[in-house]
Amino acid sequence: MHQAPPDLRRRPRDRAAGDRTTRPRRTCVGCRTTRDKDELLRLAATPDGVRADPAARLPGRGAYVCPTTACIETAAHRNAVRRALHGTSEDEVRTALETLLATVSTSQAPKEQHA
Ligand SMILES: [Zn+2]
Repeated sequence: MHQAPPDLRRRPRDRAAGDRTTRPRRTCVGCRTTRDKDELLRLAATPDGVRADPAARLPGRGAYVCPTTACIETAAHRNAVRRALHGTSEDEVRTALETLLATVSTSQAPKEQHA
């Protein structure tokens, strides 16, 4: 019984997971969780200022946040977006975050949360 254990680390799924690892992953500036990029909402530092970019189409440096009010608010309170997007103004970030909040609150029913 000194054989190596069965190939636990090579489950058949690993091939599918291989595909998944090629998908870009980003860290939420609110909760710091790493998720697939397309699960997160993007903020872009465009030449015209910070914009909410949920479709991830705008050029420029991006910051990412989970599509939840909690993460967006955390990001706002922590100034995490400004840190991620160097040299942006607080007002621009706030406006962009509010735009994202509106996106979130229209795309999912608000739930009461007891903190
Ligand atoms: Zn988050």
